[in-house]
Amino acid sequence: FHPVFQNMPVTVFETMSGLARTHSAINLGQGFPDAPGPEDLRRAAAEAVIHGSNQYAPSRGLPELQAAVVEHYGRLQGVPLTPEGVLITSGATEAIAASVLAVVQPGDEVVVFEPVYDAYVPLIERAGGVVVRVRLSPPEWRITEGLLAGIAGPKTRALMFNNPLNPAGRAFDAEEVATVARFCVRHDLIAISDEVWEHVIFDGRTHRSLLAEPGMAERTLKIGSAGKMFGLTGWKIGFVCGAPEVVDPVAKAHQFLTFATAPNLQSAVAQGLAWPADRFTAMRAELQQSRDRLASGLAAQGFITTASEGTYFLCVDLRASGIDLDDEKVCRRLVTEFGIAAIPVSAFMTGADRPTGIIRLCFAKADAVLDKAILRLGRAR
Ligand code: GLN
Repeated sequence: FHPVFQNMPVTVFETMSGLARTHSAINLGQGFPDAPGPEDLRRAAAEAVIHGSNQYAPSRGLPELQAAVVEHYGRLQGVPLTPEGVLITSGATEAIAASVLAVVQPGDEVVVFEPVYDAYVPLIERAGGVVVRVRLSPPEWRITEGLLAGIAGPKTRALMFNNPLNPAGRAFDAEEVATVARFCVRHDLIAISDEVWEHVIFDGRTHRSLLAEPGMAERTLKIGSAGKMFGLTGWKIGFVCGAPEVVDPVAKAHQFLTFATAPNLQSAVAQGLAWPADRFTAMRAELQQSRDRLASGLAAQGFITTASEGTYFLCVDLRASGIDLDDEKVCRRLVTEFGIAAIPVSAFMTGADRPTGIIRLCFAKADAVLDKAILRLGRAR
């Protein structure tokens, strides 16, 4: 590697999806549904491609989509926003990148929770920030006051939060969200709150946005994802929401990253955000059935799984399942020898003493695919 280049890591999703293609494996690694997605939205997008504008959208997003985001979060989460506080990005990954570029100055400390979604650390470090890790422990992955004690100092500027948490499948409860909020307020931190899985939560849970906590409205960048809301991950439409004064600097960064996002997809997403609540409920009920199908199939094969309260993911505890190999090795074997791609959870953690016995499986797949995967996983035992 020429020393002039920054050697960023290859994302585990790219690595595993590449291996899945090479080995024609069932891909339960990178999280995306195998269904085509809601037909009304795909038709709306097609219509907009033919009859609407195909030129640059306004950099901050189509006004109709900004208005739809305001209406959606107000109605379903009680989060008060204004169109000036909504920025449309090319996916939540860009939203995260633009937020980090806007917030993090060289030398700033940024608190993250491990397991940490793999985009956060390279972005913070490329911005010159210093990552401060707070490690959560399996199988509960619980946030407590105690874990945060003594973590923040004079250089701490921001905290990145992911709720529900990918890859662990935790949907943090009211007490944990309040704990994070109090920590941010006490230390005057900006919170980058990645809530892309807000609609993918199970067992009757309701999502609590960090933005809605006391003292958080003026310091939170709430990030959402149409890909995850509607099962259309390839559309790459994200939202950054908050007080206009905190969203403004992010909008400036966005100008120089992608500038704008496909207008026709934006107008289709605006239509989806206006759906009645029961369509979102129906989508999560379907995903919950898939989660349960994979969980019970794996249980029948002798695998122990950890709770999946939200996200597309279910984790297998290898140690508890009597498999004493590290997760990365297991994932390599699974994809090359047994035709199943999975994600090693240790890829989201650091330190020699990190847990290395957990793999993540995506259940947003057709029943027949899950059944086939369960058989293959059983054979691999
Ligand atoms: N969020 C997806 C996952 O967790 C990956 C998205 C990506 O590869 N950028 O699987």
